[in-house]
Amino acid sequence: MIPDADHALDSAIQAVTEAAHLCMEVQQERHSDESLAKTDKSPVTVADFGAQAIISHLLAEAFPEIPLLAEEDAAALREPAQAHLFERVCRHVRNRLPALSESDVLAAIDRGGHAGGATGCHWVLDPIDGTKGFLRRDQYAIALALIDAGEVVAGVLGCPALPIGPDPDGPVGCLFLATRGGGAFMRPLAGGADEPVRVTALTDPARARFCESVEAAHSSHTDASRIATHLGVTEPPFRIDSQCKYGAVARGDASIYLRLPTRVGYEERVWDHAAGSVVVEEAGGRVTDIDGKPLDYSLGRTLRNNTGIVATNGLLHDNVLAAVQAVLQ
Ligand code: AMP
Ligand code: MG
Repeated sequence: MIPDADHALDSAIQAVTEAAHLCMEVQQERHSDESLAKTDKSPVTVADFGAQAIISHLLAEAFPEIPLLAEEDAAALREPAQAHLFERVCRHVRNRLPALSESDVLAAIDRGGHAGGATGCHWVLDPIDGTKGFLRRDQYAIALALIDAGEVVAGVLGCPALPIGPDPDGPVGCLFLATRGGGAFMRPLAGGADEPVRVTALTDPARARFCESVEAAHSSHTDASRIATHLGVTEPPFRIDSQCKYGAVARGDASIYLRLPTRVGYEERVWDHAAGSVVVEEAGGRVTDIDGKPLDYSLGRTLRNNTGIVATNGLLHDNVLAAVQAVLQ
């Protein structure tokens, strides 16, 4: 049973906000750049584990019957060699949830092993999307979505390092929120009024700004540059880590987000797109894969029926898809 959308959104916002504060605290510490390499060689930090523990625990309290599909698991934290890292995770989690024991923290993290799928309702979490950006002290996002019967029905993106206004050196810390059919909004992470966000009204692709990953291993910069040339785009790419790219398109900082495969067979992870895609769609934009197919969140932990991602302000979408097909064919 899907919970009341507003209740779910309020709980998601509260959980993401707590986790965002944990991430900022970890970043202020010495050894903030300590990380482990996972089996796929991607990094995981104290903040990834801590953010997942907090969000999982708070959601389990509010909605015990809704399972969680999340990026991390606690296996590495059980290894004696990682005792120091685990101690730091527990300390940061307990700064916010003092009653949690070590085994509560491990159990909260491991509650994220849900397989997903087409039936029922489940949360999808990336506790830190853009861990490489977090380690570089660039952009990262805490991304939480609610999926019902394979469709994203709500999404929250906590973006602790993203400037709130147009001044890149101005105050930072934004939260994007959206419910299906209810619109997309942004508010300061520190609290304040919700402001509706809206994609650009641009119809001329040559005047568009596009965003892409900082990491060339996550999205082909070479192909994006060829597509931009094909569209007549003159502005250089806006490279920004994490689902902050979806936030950027939703509020009109950019009109296009390209995520172009760097190798055959990579399956995009649902937690890298669920929250961001509903934010862009509710801000008036469109999100598909590079073949123009809607993203299929009903298949489990990956988008295995999709290839890459194209998100736009909607008005430019068909033009961008045509350029992608012309260049990548
Ligand atoms: P971004 O910050 O947009 O570069 O995306 C970060 C996400 O890229 C991580 O959460 C990973 O799940 C994901 N990722 C890792 N390897 C790849 C790859 N080869 N292609 C696309 N995404 C990837
Ligand atoms: Mg991620």
